[in-house]
Amino acid sequence: MTFAIGQDHLLSSVPDGWEFEARRDKVAGVRIKPLIGVVHYGVTQTHDELVNALLVLRASAHLALTARDGVRRITQMVPFNIQAGHAGETATWRGKKGVNGFSVGIEINNPGPLSLGDDGVFRDVHKRPWKGEVLSCAHGRPGFPWKHWARFTDEGIAAATALMLAIKERYGIVDVVGHDEIRKDKSDPGPAFPMERVRALVFPREAA
Ligand SMILES: [Zn+2]
Repeated sequence: MTFAIGQDHLLSSVPDGWEFEARRDKVAGVRIKPLIGVVHYGVTQTHDELVNALLVLRASAHLALTARDGVRRITQMVPFNIQAGHAGETATWRGKKGVNGFSVGIEINNPGPLSLGDDGVFRDVHKRPWKGEVLSCAHGRPGFPWKHWARFTDEGIAAATALMLAIKERYGIVDVVGHDEIRKDKSDPGPAFPMERVRALVFPREAA
């Protein structure tokens, strides 16, 4: 699976089985030169929910990605050369603040932390049942109470990796990180996302 970028957007010639849409809501704004990629989960269960959340909230990201239950959709919310609002003011990467000013954000449709009810049903933070696969473990960093996480699909992980590779190819980004690696108060993408493996695939030399 490979993606290509032209004119600061993903090209619409996405791999077979994928749907791509570029929104035009935020084509203007502060210009950036992407230096890193940041991975997030949307605390969402559907692609439309994810896209709407990114439109309604002040938060925004460059790409919204869904790969689950036969749905394969990518929406470009913001051009790659325009600043989005996904990292937050307190984010720091290698001592540098203002991460929104030098990063591309990918939001993956995934509900994130889950609670296990007495009825044996996993529910997301909005108390909605989650029927997908679950990873049960602590976050790995102190401060988060959750013990269960919605798994990412292999396809979603592969797509996120391929997107970061395309972004690296076009912009020469030097790192991909999870939001939880650049902000202490953020849990996403969490332990269910194989951040180390994805980083090693995008930057094979650093992994050697
Ligand atoms: Zn995030």
